[in-house]
Amino acid sequence: MERVLLKNIENPNSADINEYLKIGGYKSLSKAFALQPKDIIEEIKKSGLRGRGGAGFPTGMKWSFADADPRSPKYLICNADEGEPGTFKDRILLERNPHLLIEGIVISGYALGAQEGFIYLRGEYPHAKDVLSRAIKQAYKNNYLGDNILGKGVRFHITVYQGAGAYICGEETALIESLEGKRGQPRSKPPFPVNVGAWGMPTIVNNVETLSNVPYIIDVGGEVYSRIGSKDCPGPKLYCVSGCVERPGVYELPMGTSLREIIYKHAGGIKGGRGLKAVFPGGISTPVLPGDKIDCPMDFVSMPKFDSMLGSGAVIVMDESVCMVKVALRSLRFFEHESCGKCVPCREGVEWLRKIVERIEYGKGREGDIELLSQVAETISGRTFCPLGDGAACMVLAMIKHFRYEFEEHIKNR
Ligand code: SF4
Repeated sequence: MERVLLKNIENPNSADINEYLKIGGYKSLSKAFALQPKDIIEEIKKSGLRGRGGAGFPTGMKWSFADADPRSPKYLICNADEGEPGTFKDRILLERNPHLLIEGIVISGYALGAQEGFIYLRGEYPHAKDVLSRAIKQAYKNNYLGDNILGKGVRFHITVYQGAGAYICGEETALIESLEGKRGQPRSKPPFPVNVGAWGMPTIVNNVETLSNVPYIIDVGGEVYSRIGSKDCPGPKLYCVSGCVERPGVYELPMGTSLREIIYKHAGGIKGGRGLKAVFPGGISTPVLPGDKIDCPMDFVSMPKFDSMLGSGAVIVMDESVCMVKVALRSLRFFEHESCGKCVPCREGVEWLRKIVERIEYGKGREGDIELLSQVAETISGRTFCPLGDGAACMVLAMIKHFRYEFEEHIKNR
């Protein structure tokens, strides 16, 4: 597959506007301005593009909800708060291909009738902030941003807002709260941000990778784009592979590439030739899969049929030397630390999950602890305000389902 998102990133100056222009950058923007905003939304619908942040919601449909709302101003927010452990795909786009993202944001803003865009950037990405700020300045200077873009009377401005480093601000309503200067906690939904978003106005929140697909869709057309990858989830996908593999990194592959192919063909297989024990296919919030269940197409529609989810596409590989109880404990410490405390099942429940797994790991596990863990996790599931609590609970339940013997062994032999 021809590279779409990571095109030219080996070029050490790939973030410079002149290098981007040399490979046809900003041509899609001119093409988009010759179309009516509604036609662009139709093209995105035709492409079948789904949000790459983790939920996989159809982008064109999301845009049409905002389009149907007559109120203005409308806002476009690019979610660059990439916080899921194991995920580093947006960072490469921000640091190596920022003009692709800026072009995607301006086209999307034009389609949605928004004149103001925000990039909500993860607090821990200072280098990305520098690169992005430089790229935005270049875009203003070259008239790809401003009050009269390319002399077409289109106005669009971008502000970069850096978060303080909270995982929960990757959730769109918590992100909006934080952007408005409040404490980053999720809002109750409905109403959804497409109707009541930033400062109460219609707001589209799309992830970095999602918006970076837009220029290519305008370039080749939605129909051609929809032929890449799997039928229900078309397009290129960035998979980031980490853990016990020979070649960790970000791989741009057609959506729906199998987990086995990603690990063994592209990431070079398991480090040192050891056996594969387990994989988080889409970050630690997605249910872990045992090493013999990796013949699954990595897309939003297929993964639930294999008892997991695509999530952010962050493939975390664990070999046979890894202790799964320890993995569960480290993951729970993360969830507990990042819980915003708004709802009881998550605030109290995740702490209890951590306490029980901690005593099992430290040789103080009791008989009945596995059942207690399952009971607490099931009590949390489906009863939390946002997906963080669910993510912690389903991680624990999947661990017990596939690696119960390790928990039993820890309790028995301390
Ligand atoms: Fe906050 Fe956790 Fe409730 Fe989400 S699930 S709102 S992170 S307490």
